[in-house]
Amino acid sequence: MKVQFWGVRGSLPSSLDTYGWVGHFEKLMKQFFDSGFNSKSDINEFIKQNPPAAIGGFGAATTCVQVSDGPHTLIVDGGSGLKHLSDQLEKLGRISLHNEFHILMTHFHFDHILGLPFFAPHFIKGKKIHYYSVQPETEQIVRNLFKKPIFPVGFESLSADIQFHTLQPYKKTAINGFEVTAYKMDHPDPSYGFRIEKNNKVYAHAVDHEALRLTREQLGADAGLFEKADLLYFDAQYEEADMALKKGWGHGTCDRGFQVAATFGVQQILFAHHDPAFSIEDSWNHKKKAEASFQQHFSKNKLKWDFAFEGLIVEVKPRSNNH
Ligand SMILES: [Zn+2]
Ligand SMILES: [Zn+2]
Repeated sequence: MKVQFWGVRGSLPSSLDTYGWVGHFEKLMKQFFDSGFNSKSDINEFIKQNPPAAIGGFGAATTCVQVSDGPHTLIVDGGSGLKHLSDQLEKLGRISLHNEFHILMTHFHFDHILGLPFFAPHFIKGKKIHYYSVQPETEQIVRNLFKKPIFPVGFESLSADIQFHTLQPYKKTAINGFEVTAYKMDHPDPSYGFRIEKNNKVYAHAVDHEALRLTREQLGADAGLFEKADLLYFDAQYEEADMALKKGWGHGTCDRGFQVAATFGVQQILFAHHDPAFSIEDSWNHKKKAEASFQQHFSKNKLKWDFAFEGLIVEVKPRSNNH
């Protein structure tokens, strides 16, 4: 199972402005020479020595995740990252290889729907697009996205065959070769997380989620999302110190993710829904604080963790038996 992250920013697409990038490049160039490099031929080595997100940042696009296993693919959410996925399908000529597309919707906040009208298969005859969600109002919401004056092409004019499917929470459903189960998140309006399983591999998608409930008892039926997940994608938009002010806003923290991972035997966790107000440096500071907290409180857990960045691809491996 392969998981590709097309958009990992929260709430609003957000990038440095031009002068912000100029400042970032200036810093990188200084770092290049400070590291003892001095010629063009050293550039590749410099890039290799640094994490991709230290050079390119964590990304600007909002939530869109692709879960694949061989030719089978599911898309989770239609944030602005979906446009990148669509562009890549077109560029590689892959749109012609797929006749059906399967999109799981967590909820309908702007950052999770704004890429949907830019997903090219909507406009191609012979394509079938399946939308899946717990919320029965998905059809109405998607119809309203393809509507003048907010979008020039009306839903009725779309060439693809578009189908809407309502999921029952906590009920495993077979979708395009995967088993998908929806769980309720701590988020307004509401939002659902998805446990996606195939061949004993488990991807758990938990953005947007404030993680107000952390223990098995508090989570009740929703604990099922996290149980022994091989890869957990977790909302850490905020820092614990900000939570007094941001309580009820629907987003979590790294500490809450570490705690959930420890309680439920998670193998690997990736933090995301990065704050749109954060510069590259802010996100790295956020990560440094998470590292300190992990070392102090959670390091006895054998947990692999990192911050997700746009373009990241993770191969989900089944856990070894001695785990
Ligand atoms: Zn969101
Ligand atoms: Zn949301």
